[in-house]
Amino acid sequence: MILVIDDSPENIFSLKKILELHNLEVDTALSGEEGLKKVLKFTYALIILDVQMPGMDGFEVAEAITGYSKAKDTPIIFLSALSIDKKYITRGYASGAVDYITKPVDADILMLKVKTFLKLYEQTRELNQIQQALREEIEYKNQAQSELRERVQELRSILESIPQIAFTAKSNGKIEFVNQHWFNYGQLESEFPPTHPEDKSIIEEWNNTIATGQPLTMEVRFKKRRSEDYRWHLLKALPVKEDDMIVKWVGTFTDIEEQKQSEQKKDEFISIASHELKTPLTSIKAYLQLLQRSIEPTGNNVVVNYLQRTQVQIEKLHHLITDLLDISKIESGKLKFNKKLFDLNPVIQSVVETIRQTNEGCKVLIKSNADVQVFGDSERIEQVVINYLTNALKYSPDSKEVELETFILNNKEVRVNIKDNGIGIPKEKQAHIFQKFYRAEDSSSRFQGLGIGLYICAEIIKRHDGKYGVQSEQGKGSVFYFTIPIVHNN
Ligand code: ADP
Repeated sequence: MILVIDDSPENIFSLKKILELHNLEVDTALSGEEGLKKVLKFTYALIILDVQMPGMDGFEVAEAITGYSKAKDTPIIFLSALSIDKKYITRGYASGAVDYITKPVDADILMLKVKTFLKLYEQTRELNQIQQALREEIEYKNQAQSELRERVQELRSILESIPQIAFTAKSNGKIEFVNQHWFNYGQLESEFPPTHPEDKSIIEEWNNTIATGQPLTMEVRFKKRRSEDYRWHLLKALPVKEDDMIVKWVGTFTDIEEQKQSEQKKDEFISIASHELKTPLTSIKAYLQLLQRSIEPTGNNVVVNYLQRTQVQIEKLHHLITDLLDISKIESGKLKFNKKLFDLNPVIQSVVETIRQTNEGCKVLIKSNADVQVFGDSERIEQVVINYLTNALKYSPDSKEVELETFILNNKEVRVNIKDNGIGIPKEKQAHIFQKFYRAEDSSSRFQGLGIGLYICAEIIKRHDGKYGVQSEQGKGSVFYFTIPIVHNN
């Protein structure tokens, strides 16, 4: 919009006509004072200002306009009589005006100047906008940077105050900060402390972590500086993300030496105790059988019945001790497998028969959809099926019906599902039940057990390149499953 300030209505009329002919919007004021009021209220792209006016003259109006911050960049074209004095011209420029036009107005010259100034005004406005946006961006960046600095400082103070060794690294894995505990083991800030030659390479694991962006958990032994002692540490490193992008890594090493030692002592104890228990138990089993054979011909059914019950309990004890022995074998890497090709169905049939005999009143329904051969240790696979089935019956106090289903997946592996209608497992506990000694506490008070059966099953299945798991709903029942690769006859 263009503002025309002139005390002569005829002048205003003709100027307005010329400008409107060129599709320009025009506002008018008949005195300097009225013009000023309008400038205060509205924004104009250009002001055409008559110099000689009664009251405030054009120069006074221009001076006042250039004093308003809102209008200081608005160009002004003065309209003046032909014979204008030089001193007025200088005054006009000093008051911020940008050009003159003499009266009577030549429409072509007026339009040339108006268009030039409008263009200039538009460009200045755009420049100002860009400048403003840049200023805001710089301010925002400065603020973000200072916030980041504060956060980094805060994080470093926290990392200094914890008892663990702690570090932060850039997104590319380069270590950028380490706390004081680091130097009990490491000499350089930029390198991980030296680890035991038998442990996994920390650099390899670290590079892999950076490449995949996945959190890292590993156990390593660090050598204390100026000593030959190695101590076990648990490394945990997590990515810090902003807008889903990894911006840095935070890691800690927790000293787990004592925990490791007591675990080792416990494993040694389990190993020795289970070995020592197994020898007398084998003798007890043998003597019981002899006793049973010598009593049976006498027809003393009461004693025979007691002996049979004793045998069932001895069998349970035997399983427990075997499981404990297996655990210590797993720990020491000595769990051996006698792998051969075998048919899966007969193995399953025989396990189910045993279960039916030893669990009075139970119903095990077999749905076999896979007549396959697998390569593995049939006794160990049997052990897994027994464990799953025994658990299915044990954790189903109100229903003794269990279903065992086998089927082939993608022509590559066979899957065995064992489904019960028992107490089920809460969602948050399902991920843990294959861990050593883990028992869901709601069931542990009601049912006896050590929490090692599933751990052994998991190990056996892993060693057969298979998968294992559970699908369960609390109060409704569970489906425990495992898979093993099948072998095609040809
Ligand atoms: P245990 O039965 O001796 O405790 P397991 O390793 O066989 O040890 O099982 C671990 C835990 O998993 C059990 O304590 C129990 O909480 C849960 N669990 C296993 N099987 C079932 C099942 N069929 N139904 C419900 N919970 C089960």
